[in-house]
Order: sequence, then structure tokens, then C-alpha cells
Amino acid sequence: MPSRNILVVNCGSSSIKFALVNEADPHFPLSGLAERLGSEEAVLHLQRRNADKESVPIPGADHIAALARLLPIVETVAEGQLHGIGHRVVHGGEFFTAASLIDDEVLDAIRTTSPLAPLHNPANLQGIEAAMALFAQLPHVAVFDTAFHQTLPEHAFRYAVPDVLYREHGVRRYGFHGTSHRFVSRQAADMTGLAVGDSSWLTAHLGNGCSTCAIANGQSLDTSMGLTPLEGVAMGTRSGDVDPNLHSHLARTLGWSLEQIDRMLNHDSGVKGLSGLSNDMRTLEQAREQGHAGATLAIEVFCYRIAKSLAAMGCALSRLDGLIFTGGIGENSPLIRSRIVAHLKLLGLELDGEANARCIRGVGGMIHADGHPRVLVVPTNEERQIALDTLALLPE
Ligand code: ADP
Repeated sequence: MPSRNILVVNCGSSSIKFALVNEADPHFPLSGLAERLGSEEAVLHLQRRNADKESVPIPGADHIAALARLLPIVETVAEGQLHGIGHRVVHGGEFFTAASLIDDEVLDAIRTTSPLAPLHNPANLQGIEAAMALFAQLPHVAVFDTAFHQTLPEHAFRYAVPDVLYREHGVRRYGFHGTSHRFVSRQAADMTGLAVGDSSWLTAHLGNGCSTCAIANGQSLDTSMGLTPLEGVAMGTRSGDVDPNLHSHLARTLGWSLEQIDRMLNHDSGVKGLSGLSNDMRTLEQAREQGHAGATLAIEVFCYRIAKSLAAMGCALSRLDGLIFTGGIGENSPLIRSRIVAHLKLLGLELDGEANARCIRGVGGMIHADGHPRVLVVPTNEERQIALDTLALLPE
């Protein structure tokens, strides 16, 4: 059987990220981004393997128009052999414990879950509906950020708030970044010769959004994000945990509205808010080098909070086969990795400086010092995991 091709699609409210994944090829034959959809500045950026990036203006295009432009290009690159489409969906609520072949029932369940992710799920749905209209003959699969965490035990996923809020309104911890935590924990098992079903990991996905996870025997047992991706560690622009009374305090003392507080916590906080400079870790590391006090503090808070979260995740495990770093920061920043590990002496962790410095720009590997528990850098690949999940559900 020739190797199969899956188009992986991630629709935001005004953008579509995509990658054509071939099951036998470690590199994507085509990837790109359509952005500013719905405006006159809409543009389709394309990256064919071994070619220069192209940008095609698609003025006024919406999701369906952008996908319609993309379709013939995908078909050409896939040489007419496209086997299915994998859609990233942010929130699967309690409906989805794994990827699902999309039918009317699945679409309804994603719709029903939308109040839990009011910005993301409607955009994901819009993309699915547009793609299903254009690629009607192909199987479509939804892969959920939350699904991997549906194995959390109840004592880890419940908030200590009145029971009725969970029973009638779904207020509980769901967790996100599941595709990435799952992918890197499986890769780590491969890299160390351990069986997925008999291995135990702490993972730190550190990108613009950041989360930690405890994974034993292939199952997520706890994770730092909650009902929404705001809970947990400090991130690029998100605060992570704050005292929940901060809302009423700001409303009372400053007269702020819920929208203002939401915006501040989601978009103006994290390392951006602390540094007063940027949400981009590269910029902050450079500024720290030059003695910028805000950047220095932001990095210290970021690293301490992640270490603290990882130590807390340790409660879910009975042994540790390794700590895994991934995401743009986790894969590329020896400084951040070493600052985090420096706070985890109690777990006996220590890095090998040279190995830590070597693991950047897609190079993964073990970075712990001899005689200390394993620490690994594992480049994540959410598109490939979504493609694998899609392939697994294709009708025979
Ligand atoms: P997203 O969550 O949007 O997928 P990424 O996983 O690409 O984001 O991570 C983006 C973050 O990774 C940014 O803060 C960026 O500064 C950081 N990053 C990328 N390369 C480096 C690097 N060489 N050193 C430090 N941080 C880096």
C-alpha cells in the first residue's frame, strides 16, 4: 500500500494553520497559514518542502474560500492521494476521550461544548464545516486538546466548589495541550526503550501557552491547565494561577468590568505583564543579558512557577522515568531549562551543561547529568500526532 497523506487543519477565528502529513515522511510536503480571513488583507502563506515560502493574497476570503484555494494545491502536492482530514478541536468536554470520526452526532457534541471554549470551538467548527463541504468524499476526524486528560482521577479534576456546578454546568478541570503531552511522552518511551504502558513522566510544554502534566503508563493523571487554558503556570501573556478573589478585588477597588479583567489576565499578563516588554522569550532572554530588571524578574517567576507545578505533578506519580521539555521554549532554551531544574533539587534533578546547550532547534536528547534522574528534550509534533490519530480511524 502506498504511504497515505492526511491534511491537518487548525482553524482559529480568522486563521487556518495547516500541514500535509505523509505517514512515511518525517518532513511535511506542504504546510502554511491562511490569516486575516474575512478582511481585505487575507493572505495564504505556503511552504512547500525544499522551496521558498510563498504568500498569495486572497482579499476578502473567509474560511471556505481559503480552503477552496488550498484544496487544489494540496491535491497537487499529494499527487491526488489525500486520504483524510484531521481537525484540531480545542475543547471536547467530557464527550470525547479520544479522537473521533466526524458525523452529525460528533458535530452536535462539539457545538454543545462551545460554552466551555467560546472563542475556540466555534472557530474550529466553522473550519470543519467548511472543509466537509469542500472535501465531502473524505473522512474527517476531530482530535481534541482535552481528550488525553479525560483519564484524570476525580480528585484531580474536581474543583472544591459546590457539587452542582460540576453536575449541572460542567465546571471541572479539563486540561489542554493533550496532543503534545501524549506525543512527547510516547517519543520519550521510544527514546529510552521503555514501554509506553510501563513508564512514568513529567512533561512541560512551554510555548506561548504553557502547561505541565503527569503521565503514567500512557495515561494523563494530572495537568496544570483547568476549565480553561488560563489555569496553572505563568505563560507568554496569561497569568496562570492568581488568587480567585483578584476578580472581586479589582472590581471593587478599580471598578473594572469582567471583560477588562478577562483581557488583562489572558492578554496582558504572564511574562509580558511582568517584564513590561514582551511575551517572546527570545526578546526577554536578550533583555536579561543586558540587565533589564523586568525581563530578569519575568524569567525568574516563569521558571519558579513551572518548577513548582512540576513538583506538584509529582504527587500523581509513584516513580519518575524522566522530565520532558517541549514546545518553542522547552525545545530551544537551555537557560529556561536550567533555571527550572535548579528549583527541582528535591527530586534529585541535575543537568549536563553541554548536553543542555546542544538540544536546540529540533535536536532532542537526554540532558541530565550522570547519575541523576532523566531529563529529556523532545521536539513536539502535534500535526503528526493528529495525522496518526486520523489514520487510525480511517475506514478500511
Ligand atoms: P505556540 O504555543 O504558539 O505553538 P511555540 O511552541 O512556537 O508557540 O513557542 C513560542 C515561544 O518559544 C516564544 O516565546 C518564543 O520566544 C520561544 N522560543 C523560540 N525559540 C527560542 C529560543 N531559541 N530561545 C528562547 N525561546 C525561544
